[in-house]
Amino acid sequence: MAWRSSGLTNAELVANLARNGVYNSERVKAAMLKVDRANYVRNREDAYDDCPQLIGHGQTISAPHMHAHAAQHLLTYLQPGCKVLDVGSGSGYLASVFHHLVSDEEGGLRGKVVGIEHIPQLVQWSRDNVRRDGLGKALDNGEIELIEGDGRLGYPEGGPYDAIHVGAAAPKLPKALVDQLASPGRMFIPIGKYSQVVTLVDKDVEGRVTVEDLFGVMYVPLTDRPTGHGK
Ligand code: SAH
Repeated sequence: MAWRSSGLTNAELVANLARNGVYNSERVKAAMLKVDRANYVRNREDAYDDCPQLIGHGQTISAPHMHAHAAQHLLTYLQPGCKVLDVGSGSGYLASVFHHLVSDEEGGLRGKVVGIEHIPQLVQWSRDNVRRDGLGKALDNGEIELIEGDGRLGYPEGGPYDAIHVGAAAPKLPKALVDQLASPGRMFIPIGKYSQVVTLVDKDVEGRVTVEDLFGVMYVPLTDRPTGHGK
């Protein structure tokens, strides 16, 4: 499916993803239409290709079909007013999509999205991207917070989170992230070293945790911070 949904414009890409059954929700569609992927890539000519793209520092922005899958699977926990943590926020693209999903423009219910990324240059670039995409106000008022840190530890100050998205593969489920999940709450996380599986981690109202494997993927790993990226 990886390259089937490419388009010539953002609207075409978002429509093709729906046509190919990657998502089926009007809310996901509306949010993805509000976020122009061209503002989150290095090479704008390839912005609407349904494939990952290098964003520098050895990292990639994930393919649009993975972004759409993530939003669709977390959707129940992406209601207006919800709190979201995006681990390995990279380009900032998903943080912006999540922001639109948890913010009710008319009703005034504003959620909060925290993106945590360990490469400082990407953190700065992602803030610029989000601003270029018209969300400067959300950054200024803290509805979107893009911070530098080790995502494996999460960001307890901002939690508990209704939804946690992890954009890089963890060798095993990080306990800190499970702890920071609200009851109820849901995490979307690729797990595995060589063969990786996207896993849904659900915490119910009583705090019971269940895990469901979804499908195999190839993500960059969650790692220690690379050297040479000092402040
Ligand atoms: N979802 C993002 C980025 C995906 S690539 C996007 O689509 O743009 C995964 C990102 O995770 C990279 O930017 C990488 O730097 C980051 N990352 C890897 N290990 C990390 C860690 N321990 N803490 C925080 N970020 C990490």
